[in-house]
Amino acid sequence: MSGITIVGGGLAGLTAAIECAEGGAEVRLLEAHEALGGRARSMAGPYKANLGPHVIYKDGPLWQWLVERELLPPHKNAPLAGIRFRWQGDVRRTPPLGTIPSVLRLRGREAPVDQDFRGWVTSHADERTAAMLSAAAGVYTFHHDPGELSAAFVWGHSVRVLLSPPPTARYLVGGWGSMIAALEVRARRLGVEIETGHPVDALPELPVIVATELGQARELLGDDSLDWPAGRTVCVDLGLKHRRGDPFVVSDLDEAGWVERFSAADPSLAPEGEELVQAQLPIRPGESADQAGLRLERLLDASLPGWRERETWRRRQAMEGRTGPLDHPGLSWRDRPAIDRGAGVFLAGDMVAAPGLLSEVSWASGVEASRLALEAIGASRAELKRVA
Ligand SMILES: Cc1cc2nc3c(=O)[nH]c(=O)nc-3n(C[C@H](O)[C@H](O)[C@H](O)COP(=O)(O)OP(=O)(O)OC[C@H]3O[C@@H](n4cnc5c(N)ncnc54)[C@H](O)[C@@H]3O)c2cc1C
Repeated sequence: MSGITIVGGGLAGLTAAIECAEGGAEVRLLEAHEALGGRARSMAGPYKANLGPHVIYKDGPLWQWLVERELLPPHKNAPLAGIRFRWQGDVRRTPPLGTIPSVLRLRGREAPVDQDFRGWVTSHADERTAAMLSAAAGVYTFHHDPGELSAAFVWGHSVRVLLSPPPTARYLVGGWGSMIAALEVRARRLGVEIETGHPVDALPELPVIVATELGQARELLGDDSLDWPAGRTVCVDLGLKHRRGDPFVVSDLDEAGWVERFSAADPSLAPEGEELVQAQLPIRPGESADQAGLRLERLLDASLPGWRERETWRRRQAMEGRTGPLDHPGLSWRDRPAIDRGAGVFLAGDMVAAPGLLSEVSWASGVEASRLALEAIGASRAELKRVA
């Protein structure tokens, strides 16, 4: 059996490396950055902000896969108190109460792929409930108007993320870097040859799994068809001096934003006496990141009293096409760029044809790309030897 090369050492590339090596292949992983992890990298300093993700979902397949390999780092549940909602300008303790019966009635329903989410909710409930549920989906769509996306896409994820008690969100102690470290150890134990600081600008020997962001894959493969809609958001990580009574989460039902004090779940993310907060607000069409940034500051003003005076550290990023895929009405994950590009080239990442929520798409596509790459080098599932 010969080797498989993987370009990109984020969650998708590391998953693929482990799966291919467990399948008995010789694996080489090439990562442009000096460190592995991609968007899941955690900062080394006193504020353990990740480039993006903080939450892993216990009911998802990535969680199960990590558990099976004993790779799941220590983790924390979400605090039970401190959830707030911004609705019609005010930050309050409850969502608009009149909408709750309609939401509960919707819960058992399956939403159609072909209809937009707002239209689907309105046809079963009322416009207020539709507006509220659409904006609440901003937390995982990073889109200024999730109501215009496919009903099946939004509702499937909303039921998992927002409406399944008890919450399945979990927080990895020390940030997602702890999961990346565990994956790296596993990959190296399996004999994966890892080269960091190695940007790839021409396709290496086949078969190859390209596990970069989709735009980077488009460039590397010279294939303009590699495109799919994604969110645009302005994202601020803040270090704040502790204040009693700060909320854990503010779900912004006015403008589809989100504020979360991650150090409430995992105090190790910030220095003692301080908090680590991540806040994001989707950028509207025609709006600049700076303008969205000002709206985000107003959301922070309403959410975290005195935050400006308490600020000890800040990082602002405009996230463009980096927050996961968006399926519009009539389209589902099956319509996204195919994993098998032909001639021994496979794609993995969070914008390709694989199911799941956010990074679960990277994981699922990493698993599927590995299966196809192993087939390409002549390994059949029957002969795959699991390496302990
Ligand atoms: C603000 C924000 C919040 C998020 N929150 C969550 C969350 O709470 N939960 C969740 O599950 N997901 C979340 N996500 C999504 C999650 O971050 C991504 O889905 C996931 O990290 C993507 O992993 P990946 O391996 O596909 O891509 P990446 O992490 O982007 O990895 C790609 C890798 O390829 C490397 N690379 C690129 N080009 C080359 C090249 N030419 N040669 C070699 N290497 C190359 C890059 O350096 C990078 O390391 C969030 C994302 C953002 C932006």
